[in-house]
Amino acid sequence: MENKVFLASSLTFRYICRDKVTDMRFIDVVLPLPLSSLFTYALPAELQDTVRTGCRVVVPFGVKKIYTAIVWEVHERCPEGYAVKQVLEVLDAEPVLLPVQLDFWQWIAEYYMCALGDVYKAALPSGMKLESESWVALNDEYEGGEALSLHETAVFEALSRKPEQTLTQLQKTCGGFKVLRVVKGLLDKGVLVMKEEVKRSYKPRTEVHVRLTEAYFDEQRLHAALDDLRRAAKQQAVLLKYLDLANAVAALRLGNLRMLSEVGRKQLVDAAGVTMAVCQALVEKGILETYAYETGRLSHTEVADTIGLSPLSKAQAAALGTVRASFGEHPVCLLHGVTSSGKTEIYVHLIHEMLAQGKQVLYLVPEIALTTQLTERLFRVFGTRMGVYHSKFSDAERVEIWRKQMSDAPYGLILGVRSSVFLPFRRLGLVIVDEEHEQTYKQQDPAPRYHARNAAVVLAQKSGAYTLLGSATPSLETYHNVRAGKYGLAELAERFGQVQLPEVEVVDIKELRRKRRMTGLFSPRLLAEMREALERKEQVILFQNRRGYAPVVECRACGWVPKCQNCDVSLTYHKGLNKLTCHYCGYTCNVPEKCPACEGAELRQRGFGTEKVEDEVRALFPGAAVARMDLDTTRTRSAYERILGDFQAGKTDILIGTQMVTKGLDFDRVSVVGILDADAMLNVPDFRSYERAFQLMAQVSGRAGRRHRRGLVILQTKSPELPVIRQVVANDYAGLYANETAERKAFMFPPFCRLVYVYMKHRQADVLDRLAAGMGERLRAVLGGRVLGPDVPPVARIQLLYIRKLVVKVEPGIALSAVRRELWRVRRELMSQPGYHGAQVYFDVDPA
Ligand code: ADP
Ligand code: ZN
Ligand code: ZN
Repeated sequence: MENKVFLASSLTFRYICRDKVTDMRFIDVVLPLPLSSLFTYALPAELQDTVRTGCRVVVPFGVKKIYTAIVWEVHERCPEGYAVKQVLEVLDAEPVLLPVQLDFWQWIAEYYMCALGDVYKAALPSGMKLESESWVALNDEYEGGEALSLHETAVFEALSRKPEQTLTQLQKTCGGFKVLRVVKGLLDKGVLVMKEEVKRSYKPRTEVHVRLTEAYFDEQRLHAALDDLRRAAKQQAVLLKYLDLANAVAALRLGNLRMLSEVGRKQLVDAAGVTMAVCQALVEKGILETYAYETGRLSHTEVADTIGLSPLSKAQAAALGTVRASFGEHPVCLLHGVTSSGKTEIYVHLIHEMLAQGKQVLYLVPEIALTTQLTERLFRVFGTRMGVYHSKFSDAERVEIWRKQMSDAPYGLILGVRSSVFLPFRRLGLVIVDEEHEQTYKQQDPAPRYHARNAAVVLAQKSGAYTLLGSATPSLETYHNVRAGKYGLAELAERFGQVQLPEVEVVDIKELRRKRRMTGLFSPRLLAEMREALERKEQVILFQNRRGYAPVVECRACGWVPKCQNCDVSLTYHKGLNKLTCHYCGYTCNVPEKCPACEGAELRQRGFGTEKVEDEVRALFPGAAVARMDLDTTRTRSAYERILGDFQAGKTDILIGTQMVTKGLDFDRVSVVGILDADAMLNVPDFRSYERAFQLMAQVSGRAGRRHRRGLVILQTKSPELPVIRQVVANDYAGLYANETAERKAFMFPPFCRLVYVYMKHRQADVLDRLAAGMGERLRAVLGGRVLGPDVPPVARIQLLYIRKLVVKVEPGIALSAVRRELWRVRRELMSQPGYHGAQVYFDVDPA
């Protein structure tokens, strides 16, 4: 009796035969499952007129599951040879997807070699694809006030008794009616939330803020109040702190209550160093009042304060002109502008033009967390015309944005991460891909393993829109497309406001080590420059592209290295935790007291990560305020924002970090950047390692020296003679491009061919080896020398699964579609053989 859902609905099941029923309608749907084919269902007569392509329907699948499916096509062709099941419910009166999106899904599935169902899963927020095993819960933040129907009340009460339930469970509890539609209604009203959301709510949607009550928004009354508080020193301090944080003086002078800045209650209490109770006392006196402030959704603030566009510099205006002209010839243009040249300003002007023409703009950024500054900047210009689509926003918010995009009044501008390419746009005019070289645009796991930059180009093309790719360090692929005449190019060679590019100074640490002149990880030059910068009250950024304390621990006597139980990687030592952890699966264990291999007692550390840098910096600069920004210190968005905020406000002197500190941050007081160990980036076994190293170093250097003085970058390396180091020093992108393309051409790597990786995984190494050899052999039979491997990747086991990889290189002139066909065929043939049960085989097209 476990699934009443289906009992209830199976009453309405009818099996339909072609000869019995005429004039019957059918629909082909996509299911949110890793299945490539469409599935056909029959439409009950009463639903025939309402269903259209792009609507959601609820269908049974398998023995007892139900899913929300997307209607792909409505037709009258009765499938033969099996009994067609019937649609249970139609969820939408109007499509939730546009035809161009379905077309785009299909392109993604085909090109990136995954199931259409995988694309569907990635594209829609979970709240839009309820299924029988979806967990729902009461929304803690729901404040009541909605009128609930009888059925809604029943569901609400069921969940009040047992706070989290799957739809199947709810159906059992509620019995008499179809629970799914009711749940959908409650989700829409914000009464319920999907549970996966409860688990990953990084950030509350609302925060308690405080403000001055209207009664006290008056200088004289305030003075009187402050006087009255003489004997309540703490309360007085809180009030003064509030007035300071809220910029109250200016607001009072101008008599404009709305000019008071937002002040969080926690922020205030922390800043004043008092308890919540003190703040509460002021609220009770009627001087301050609290209110709920929506933190996630900028769009709910008013537009009133939007400002105009900044005038462009001459160079910027010229670049903008070039972009416009280029769009006359190519739908895609690269804006190659050095760091801090003001690319954003050019985007803003283009967005403005697009909106004025009634067109929509999608502005893609690698990670929203890193773009608080950008969000604020854009919001000041575009106000409520802008929506932000963010993976860390709640699912409900994402559903809301989706809805809005399908409404009559969609956002004109969406600022979003990778997945926002899946949002509906009715009148897309321009896609901007900022920092187009960023690796995070490529989705690794799970499928669809798409590259959002490339997908955006295709989406724009399908929508008749332009694409603008922006970067100071373009990817080789993009630049190659420029050289080949496929993309247009606009260049911006100077920084905004005559700020000079930083000076990069190379320090040979091999030599210094030999002479024993290093202080731990620091060369004398770097130390001296850091000292001076701190004396001048300027800031320092230290970049080391590894987190943790030491990436490798080994026995001094026998060389034994502790490895992860589940993965074939060495464990990283984290000193703060005093543990060894695996950066692939999260496995954690204690540091062994002695070597299990030789009983040797001395374990030493090899390499270093940000945690160790922090340790040394604290010891060397005891008076400095130090912060570290890496994955370990920024698990929450607020932690991330605090670190950045403090640095921006000048509360931090030295910021240490991984690649997080290299990204588009605009700071004014950074005069010295230290790159501690360039070799760690150069020695990565990947054909893109030099390109990446150049990008990272050029980007982090770009943080140095903004408005008032030329910045200095100290680049520590053991291989100062490498051309790539010289190219970083000279900011010589052309040199890097020339060298790298020569290499790639000689050894046949992208952009001179396309790569498809075939990944194979299994719990047993021997089974996997047989499978991999079989795949290799069969593929070589049709594709010849284009197939390399199988080989054992650098990390050959992750989370208990062994991994093998085949590399397929497809040269220009060969149709990728033909290669894909063979790959699918061979996969199908092998997977249907006995013995390979439980194996995973998937493709990664254009791997990052
Ligand atoms: P990029 O993205 O090219 O690295 P940014 O867009 O961050 O550069 O611009 C660098 C700095 O210069 C920012 O502080 C920005 O506000 C400022 N800036 C750039 N162009 C202008 C302009 N036309 N007017 C005023 N400020 C500008
Ligand atoms: Zn040992
Ligand atoms: Zn592991």
